[in-house]
Amino acid sequence: MPFCFDPFKSLNITAAGVSSCCLMTPWEVDNIDFYNDATLQEIRSQWNKNEWPDACSLCKKSENEGFRSRRQDIPAWMLGNNVTDTSVELIRLDYWCGNMCNLRCAICGPDNSIAWQKELGISKLDRNHVTNYKWDQIDISKLKWVHFNGGEPLLNKEHLDLLKAIPAPENVILNYNTNGTVRASIELVSLWEKFKLVQLDFSIDDIGERFEYQRYPARWDEVVSNLFWYRDTMPVNIMFDIAATVSILNASNQDNIRVWFSENFSTNRVTDPIRYRTQPASGVLEIDKNVQNAKNYLDQIDKRRGTSWAKVFPELVPILNKSINIKP
Ligand code: SF4
Repeated sequence: MPFCFDPFKSLNITAAGVSSCCLMTPWEVDNIDFYNDATLQEIRSQWNKNEWPDACSLCKKSENEGFRSRRQDIPAWMLGNNVTDTSVELIRLDYWCGNMCNLRCAICGPDNSIAWQKELGISKLDRNHVTNYKWDQIDISKLKWVHFNGGEPLLNKEHLDLLKAIPAPENVILNYNTNGTVRASIELVSLWEKFKLVQLDFSIDDIGERFEYQRYPARWDEVVSNLFWYRDTMPVNIMFDIAATVSILNASNQDNIRVWFSENFSTNRVTDPIRYRTQPASGVLEIDKNVQNAKNYLDQIDKRRGTSWAKVFPELVPILNKSINIKP
């Protein structure tokens, strides 16, 4: 029977609340209590009873769709860090830094990107700019792994306070989802050097013009130059992966994307391999969802941005105009 370690070892903290991991929808709490939170305890007892909690639906969906889920990756990490029991202990942290972001990605929205709020015409006064300061409510003394997402975590200066507060960085692995448009500051890189390992996962879902449409308004040539800058200048404890979200926009182009990365960005400067990892999109651009809704959504984007999905993704024209499902 499948099992997941994360509810016993991991906590996700966002502005909206907490959950076991960044794939699980957070719930509101007055105070963060990793050990005694009633919902966390319920999820733990379900796993202990060999029940798959509803809260863990995204991993189930990934596995049902043939993607490798976070749940499936965790046991190797636990083994690699000599964790074999299910005692409740906070050693892994997913930390949502806030919604400061410079992009308006097609698979994202205003909750996670202040830039999206601007595009949707939300006035400066009404914009909801959120920064997460909650890390000081938890015991960080036993952490072995911290995962930063957002928004764009490299645009969030506040997360450096958490890095500086971590007692034994030489025992801790950092993991970032970053969009590739931001070069890390000198101060941040010098902090990274103190950590056991820093894994940068670049959120890149396609190449060239297709990339620019999906990760608007990022420029492909600038992102490529940043990838090479990271590869050629970062300390040796920094590793990279590509974390691609597969939606109806890039499902049919996966082979071309893999080829580009295997030919141009396949190892860091000390030959550690750069993996191309995929996860399914959720929301209006999700594969096998209502294509009429997807078409309407893309038409609205084009109207605001002066772009054209039909020009960038010609293979989608017969599909979105005829409501035929897309297979990855
Ligand atoms: S099964 Fe998936 S969603 Fe649930 S806690 Fe584990 S990693 Fe998170």
